[in-house]
Amino acid sequence: MIGQRRLLARLGERAVRGDVAHGYELSGPRSIGKHTLATRLAQTLNCATEPVVPGGCGVCLACRKIERGLHPDVREITRLVDQAKRDDRKNITIEQIREMQQDLALRPLEGRRRVVIIDDAADLSEHAEVALLKTLEEPPPHAVLLLITPTPSRLLETIRSRLQPLPFRSVARLEIERALVARFGQSAARFAAPAAGKPGIAFTLAMDEGARGARTRFEAEFYRLVGSKLTERFAWAAALADERDSQKRSELIETRLVNWSELVRDAAVAGTGVADGAMRPDRAEESRRLAAKVTTRDLVDLAQRMERWRRDVVETTVSARMLLELFVLKLPYDETFAEAA
Ligand SMILES: [Zn+2]
Repeated sequence: MIGQRRLLARLGERAVRGDVAHGYELSGPRSIGKHTLATRLAQTLNCATEPVVPGGCGVCLACRKIERGLHPDVREITRLVDQAKRDDRKNITIEQIREMQQDLALRPLEGRRRVVIIDDAADLSEHAEVALLKTLEEPPPHAVLLLITPTPSRLLETIRSRLQPLPFRSVARLEIERALVARFGQSAARFAAPAAGKPGIAFTLAMDEGARGARTRFEAEFYRLVGSKLTERFAWAAALADERDSQKRSELIETRLVNWSELVRDAAVAGTGVADGAMRPDRAEESRRLAAKVTTRDLVDLAQRMERWRRDVVETTVSARMLLELFVLKLPYDETFAEAA
């Protein structure tokens, strides 16, 4: 587990004694360690090595089964995707919750606690949420429910009021860098800056060439847009808004806004002349060119708007097309980027 020290300190010792609440809300940006913490908590509660340490020993059979998703007392519930039909079910269904509840009512089979991890809890259908509420109102004594979500505001207030909040914070760059070097060697240190406080992103970049490629493609797409005239920009917006699966569409837009706000932020930093503050040091040249074209104030304003739009995309039913058109209207234009692309 990288970062979240205060949260771990608060939770770890209590979990070792089995002194935990029946429901927790793990919230914070994607890739920040919510799922890792949920796994470690499940391991602490069911580890077979005495004395139990915070996070579990990691090597006993119980810990290994939990790590691999094979422990009978630890269940994870996610949105179903039927690959054969290529049909992304939009929600976690009430049937999934009912099935879980039947299990949860029984005593643990191998461990001390039955742990249910729901990720992303904002995917719960309305009926599923109402069904879940019953469990949170009268939980079996051995039950611990961990609801993971980057958007807790989308949960019913009646659900949230029965959960202990565990808000995740950004992790310091140095701390991520140390973890990267320990795991992958010195050359991996360069992935700490682009992770922007999210250890999951740093590790994915260090391990996955595909992820690095995707990142480069997003960057190219952004700079190409900066060098495009309005007609091309609107065509781009229309094409992206055309994705019919609304969940997938939100993800496509969200990924871009997150990625691109970092490029805009870097340009703003380049404009202030602060050295060594960049999240994407290998794009320093582009950041400098953008900064020469647009005032720092406008860049900061754009980055803030992008964060707001990102929230609108994931938390509300705002029109994707309108939002994207607004974005391309606000995006600075620089014809030198057209030549480069
Ligand atoms: Zn263990």
